[in-house]
Amino acid sequence: PVPLLNIRNLSVAIPTPDGDVHAVRSVSLEIERGEIHGVIGESGCGKTMTGMAALGLVPKGARIAADRFHFDGEDLRENAARLRGRRIGMISQDPAAALNPVLSIARQMDDVLRAHRDMPRQARHSEAVELLAATGLPDPERVLKSYAHQLSGGMQQRVVIAQALATGADFLIADEPTTALDVSVGAQVLALLRKLVAERGLTVLMITHDMDVIAEACDRATVLYAGLSVETGPVHDVLQRPGHPYARALLAALPDAAPHGAKLEAIEGSIPPPRSQIDGCAFAPRCPQAMPVCALQAPPERTLAAHRWLCHLPEGSA
Ligand code: SF4
Repeated sequence: PVPLLNIRNLSVAIPTPDGDVHAVRSVSLEIERGEIHGVIGESGCGKTMTGMAALGLVPKGARIAADRFHFDGEDLRENAARLRGRRIGMISQDPAAALNPVLSIARQMDDVLRAHRDMPRQARHSEAVELLAATGLPDPERVLKSYAHQLSGGMQQRVVIAQALATGADFLIADEPTTALDVSVGAQVLALLRKLVAERGLTVLMITHDMDVIAEACDRATVLYAGLSVETGPVHDVLQRPGHPYARALLAALPDAAPHGAKLEAIEGSIPPPRSQIDGCAFAPRCPQAMPVCALQAPPERTLAAHRWLCHLPEGSA
């Protein structure tokens, strides 16, 4: 089947007086219908900018290039703004900022439904109640009468998800949707997304820095490093048999005793500066297994069934 989101060699360059910032250097991503696909990496790896590019929200002047950049067969370079809010919804890290503080939830839900659905007023109200109930909010009528500040963070995030569903979107880009929430509330939001995927056929791109989120919620994962997708595959493979030394280091940096939500910055060294040119493997300066060729030549793709990664090390050398 053709992936719903189909990205091949996406790059996003942001011109600055000091030269281009390579926010995304080369990201390939194939997201199948009905999956939760995690995109993981440390800050500065390009995961949020990849999501922004799919939403048509890159900074002014940014240059997007790609061999393929398609959503359901449509080229996102031309159609992202139209697809956003119709087919593609967004859930951000901070639900309070996504909601309007001075309008009731009822008004905000109704505004979304009026803009996206051709429904009489009473039907819109029923739909708002149904969508809020579908996100697990116990008393939708009371939530509708509330203002954002009267709701907990977890409830606000459920309202944001209900709003995204209200647009009719079938693909959600969730950027660190649980980072601002308590661990247990975050786990509930992940469980909710899984339920919506199962029941409504949603597809989710989950941007995260947290391996626990990948393990708990995702079907497949793509690891980003310095603006490059360096590994992709079923979550089981990526977590149990990571091929790329960076993915292995990420997992090693998370001993079982690591606190939930541990940051990835535990790996020694830092990512290449975003303005630099990269010859060879971007991870070479930090890689415990680097060889002379690694600094000179871009690594080839290694493949084991649906599991792929970029590395000069031969398969099975982990
Ligand atoms: Fe390490 Fe070389 Fe593989 Fe890069 S290509 S991850 S430097 S072994």
